[in-house]
Amino acid sequence: MSFESLGLAPALLRALADNEYAVPTPIQAQAIPLVLSGHDVLGGAQTGTGKTAAFALPVLNRLSKETPPAGPRKPRALVLVPTRELAVQVADSFKTYGRHLRLNVTTLFGGVGMQPQIEQLRRGVDVLVACPGRLIDHLDRGSVKLDGVEVLVLDEADRMLDMGFLPAIKRIVNRVPKQRQTLLFSATFEPRIKALALEFLKDPREVQVAAQNTVAQTIAHRAHPVDGAAKRDLLVEILARRHTEQVLVFGKTKHGCNRLAEQLEKAGLPALAIHGNKSQAARQKALNEFKSGKTRILVATDVAARGLDIPDLPLVINHDLPMVAEDYVHRIGRTGRNGATGEAISLVSPDEANLLRQIQKLLGRDITMEVVPGFEPSRAIRNDAKPFDSGPRAPRPSRNRRPHGKPRAPEAHAHAGPKQPRDGQRGGRQGGMRRDARPV
Ligand code: AMP
Repeated sequence: MSFESLGLAPALLRALADNEYAVPTPIQAQAIPLVLSGHDVLGGAQTGTGKTAAFALPVLNRLSKETPPAGPRKPRALVLVPTRELAVQVADSFKTYGRHLRLNVTTLFGGVGMQPQIEQLRRGVDVLVACPGRLIDHLDRGSVKLDGVEVLVLDEADRMLDMGFLPAIKRIVNRVPKQRQTLLFSATFEPRIKALALEFLKDPREVQVAAQNTVAQTIAHRAHPVDGAAKRDLLVEILARRHTEQVLVFGKTKHGCNRLAEQLEKAGLPALAIHGNKSQAARQKALNEFKSGKTRILVATDVAARGLDIPDLPLVINHDLPMVAEDYVHRIGRTGRNGATGEAISLVSPDEANLLRQIQKLLGRDITMEVVPGFEPSRAIRNDAKPFDSGPRAPRPSRNRRPHGKPRAPEAHAHAGPKQPRDGQRGGRQGGMRRDARPV
């Protein structure tokens, strides 16, 4: 299977070649022909599967074939996404794949001024990638018109529902012409997603690439029982031993993530925090530095990390277990992709024992428990087993200055009952990060 055989326009094939995409990923191979032939599509796929290109390529293909109506260009494709970061990533994908086409791609999300967005809208837009809340603000002000939309994409629809965007989505869809093509992507096909599809899609074709709640088999899971108060020291211990690896650390709260990054920094382990209280610029900067490998440690909340396209990582550490077992799957879906080996380490305090049990139940397997000498918890957690294998200590990296974004806008939306299982499938991209899968 090749991109050529899918029937994409030469300008898109050139952009794919520039990007060194050799073959379509499974979701692309399934979805692209259906979208090109004009069907509504219900796609089951999560970040990491290549789902963005699965809709961006055929949407761009369609837009490239039609001459836009005369006058100021109103959006012809509208992509709704749950978070600002995803908006930026999706828009970047449209720009990358559409680089040989003359199409304007614009993002709308909260936490930044309205005026620059209003001016961009005035200049004309072909593809609009928007978070529902900010798009509603623009609709209310009359700064955007959706009556020219031909293709509507709901990306990470399950997340948008989790975040309470359903009323906003309904209002937005009401402003889009009924005669349109609609694509809905979601990690799961749970009943509420089916209901959404029934309401917004016409005779949709279903494509799905990921089994629910599965994780890559190549990931080693390990949990270290430890008292909550000693977690930070244990984290420092682990990170100091494995200083060559790119690590994503998950914390529970925005404040906790900030503090953790500061404390790691003090321990000589430069780290950046990413969460919704940071300004958009600070979040993007932290993400870019992490993606480029300039910063080794990124501390994130679930909400901030959602949908981020972080290349394959060798190690994910849960400083705190997620409140919902499904988020464990989501978090560690950032490692072990594409057949690579990965590791997921969780620091588990006695009061998180129940969360650990739920995660094990969801995974359908036990997570190895290893007590680290010197960090024995005051109360035993079921399964406490092997002692910590203390390998040679790596030298600690020198202190670096950490760019620090001042807290600003609050986390966009509360996070309730998320479900985004991932199985790490995707096409042949090479992980951009250094890998050094040395055991602790
Ligand atoms: P997504 O699931 O859309 O977030 O995509 C995950 C990553 O896979 C992105 O960094 C894409 O650039 C990359 N990607 C998407 N399609 C392909 C492909 N056919 N070949 C190689 N890499 C791809």
